[in-house]
Amino acid sequence: MTYILVTGGAGYIGSHACKALAQAGYIPVTYDNLVTGWQDAVKFGPFELGDLLDRARLDEVFAKYQPAAVMHFAALSQVGEAMSEPGRYWSNNVTGSLNLIQAAVDSGCLDFVFSSTCATYGEHDNVVLDETTPQHPLNAYGASKRAIEDILRDYQAAYGLNHVIFRYFNVAGADPEAEVGEFHRPETHLVPLMLDAIDGKRDRLTVFGTDYDTPDGTCIRDYVHVCDLVDAHVLGLKWLEEGNESRVFNLGTGSGFSVMEVIEHSKAVTNRAVPYSVGARRAGDCTRLVSGSVRAKDELGWTAKRSTLETMITDAWRWHQNGSYKK
Ligand code: UDP
Repeated sequence: MTYILVTGGAGYIGSHACKALAQAGYIPVTYDNLVTGWQDAVKFGPFELGDLLDRARLDEVFAKYQPAAVMHFAALSQVGEAMSEPGRYWSNNVTGSLNLIQAAVDSGCLDFVFSSTCATYGEHDNVVLDETTPQHPLNAYGASKRAIEDILRDYQAAYGLNHVIFRYFNVAGADPEAEVGEFHRPETHLVPLMLDAIDGKRDRLTVFGTDYDTPDGTCIRDYVHVCDLVDAHVLGLKWLEEGNESRVFNLGTGSGFSVMEVIEHSKAVTNRAVPYSVGARRAGDCTRLVSGSVRAKDELGWTAKRSTLETMITDAWRWHQNGSYKK
């Protein structure tokens, strides 16, 4: 029995990762403080309530399971909030991760898969974003993730902590079996907010700015299906198990869609109009974030199987109509 410690396993991406790990024959142990996660989302392995800032609790959990690896998803991840409350991002994300990384090393767990973000790149006009692109984050969320990447590199050099860093582009969609899905309270992400507006759970979607330097004036993002994303994590884990070097991989499809294009696709999938109004830009948003890398495909053998906008919105809509968490 191989345990994998999954921080943030009660959250959106972490819960999908737990399902993928269980399907691949591992036992995912969720470590989550339930501040933004849901105990109802923990369905594929044991649950351990705990905070990243609580070193004694982390030590207890490492001793109990002796996990073969850590998959670290737990983080605050909202750009708007990161702009207004940067201290929480530095404390929770960076200090919390440092605690976790130190606890892993001290317990002899030396394989680590880390959830980073394309927000570490920041604004780059007309530059293809690959893993070698300089990182100039525009907000404390991206900056906190970049700092954790640096910590991992230092711990590799000092203690041999082998790691895979995944820089995600925009994650969307849900488990096609709707066992788990995206459920944030409050919700801040485009696709679930749009589906809420479509079925009347909120008045309308606000489009954050139509004056960007893009064909229709709205921001462009590279959307990747959560199931494809977590498949890459299982491949990343195997990469480490096979003794490969620590590596950074972008996870995106290479295709960018504007906010207005996402709205149009949602209309087509749901057969319902999206009520929306145009608002001001959201502080901290980059104009365009699209991956220009095929490294994950070439080196991990990763292929994105469900990452068309149609499939992502179809899966998100199915979950939206059938799934929710209560606690
Ligand atoms: N967005 C929007 N209205 C919303 C939420 C998001 O127009 O209510 C836009 C946002 O400005 C960005 C894109 O949708 O260009 C994706 O935002 P999201 O918060 O989903 O992900 P992020 O890009 O912050 O990771």
